[in-house]
Amino acid sequence: MFKFIYKTGERLRNPSLSNWFYFLKESETWSLASLEAYQLKKLKELITVAYSKTVYYKNIFDLSGLKPADIQSLEDLKKLPIITKNELLSFNKEIHTNLKFNKLFQANTSGTSGESLKFNREESADSFNRASIYRGYSWYQVNPWERNGYFWGYNFSRIAVLKIRMLDGLQNRFRIFNYRKESIDFFIKKLKNAKFLHGYSSMIYETAKIINTHNLEKPLNLKMVKGTSEKVFEAYQEEIQKAFGQRIISEYGAAETGIIAFECKSGNMHLNMEGVIVEEIDQEIVVTNLQMQAFPIIRYKLGDYIKLAPNTKTCECGMQHLIIEEVTGRIGQAVYGKNNTYPSLYFYYIFKNLALKQGLLLTYQVVQEVKGKLTFLIEQPLDNKQLTHLENEIEVYFKNDMEFSIEYSQNLTPNNKKLKSFISNIV
Ligand SMILES: [Zn+2]
Repeated sequence: MFKFIYKTGERLRNPSLSNWFYFLKESETWSLASLEAYQLKKLKELITVAYSKTVYYKNIFDLSGLKPADIQSLEDLKKLPIITKNELLSFNKEIHTNLKFNKLFQANTSGTSGESLKFNREESADSFNRASIYRGYSWYQVNPWERNGYFWGYNFSRIAVLKIRMLDGLQNRFRIFNYRKESIDFFIKKLKNAKFLHGYSSMIYETAKIINTHNLEKPLNLKMVKGTSEKVFEAYQEEIQKAFGQRIISEYGAAETGIIAFECKSGNMHLNMEGVIVEEIDQEIVVTNLQMQAFPIIRYKLGDYIKLAPNTKTCECGMQHLIIEEVTGRIGQAVYGKNNTYPSLYFYYIFKNLALKQGLLLTYQVVQEVKGKLTFLIEQPLDNKQLTHLENEIEVYFKNDMEFSIEYSQNLTPNNKKLKSFISNIV
């Protein structure tokens, strides 16, 4: 019954989805060379469209004395400049192509930081993106119409909640709206029959903790637990494993870029190479979206720190798609010392070192209210020895340029919002 509703909806909204899905199931067995050949073919198409159908890219090419024919290899992509969200916002109209599409959807990036971006995405690109997600599901034998629990934090009005419940119902989906006791009890009852869970990893983690602490009935039918759009702390895994019988896996993407990577059963995040070209430049990700022609996105600095695995790294699952070793975190705001500024990536190093050297897995949030001072909020309790280890690591990175305090045993439950690992109130 839900399969029927799903299939009908898909045919109406995303007629090309099933073709894309078959294509992706086929290309998942391709060699790296074939994948790169496909990328080059799509890149050339994209460049031609961008040059001949948009005002923005035409200007970019002309100003740098380039012609589409100058892009003959994936390496040649580097001849083009990098763009940022600022350009997508300021030249929004000029970046849209004047191509006619049968069907367009309006995409919206939720502006957690800064302005929200609106753009058109053609049906084909939208369907490709959904098919990419469903290919990831297929690795876990999950079908999109199966019963699923969804964790997504927003503050909804009463009417919005009703509407969402209805839409969720059609999609065989249920979700948690807040952390009040009765909501949690209700949600956990429903979990029993769920086949997969997905959404904010911090909320999945919170729910896992509640199940473990109160010794509640554990869902036994789960095939996949997937975190999106937030950093999955290694410290989450133990509780999640205990409550849901498996690790939480990661899906990485953004509205502008589509799905960038999806974690396979062997624990590696494979790049969605049929959809994106990913470059790592100074530890930052730069993405080209190969499938979207309504709003071409070429060499876009998404704003995350990442680390790509060497091209020679292989995966037990057999797929040759390149691997992203780590999505280290949002670049976000600078950290201010008394004299110098630092990247927020430093926090990642500090806690990574603690995990590697001391086996200490911590969930953290760092807050800066004034320059030269930081507050480290740690969820776990810390003994004196652990506290000293943390202090030492902080000093390695900030030397004498930063005062700091550490508060442990803190409740880091995000209040229906994304959990940010660094909050700066300096303007
Ligand atoms: Zn793999």
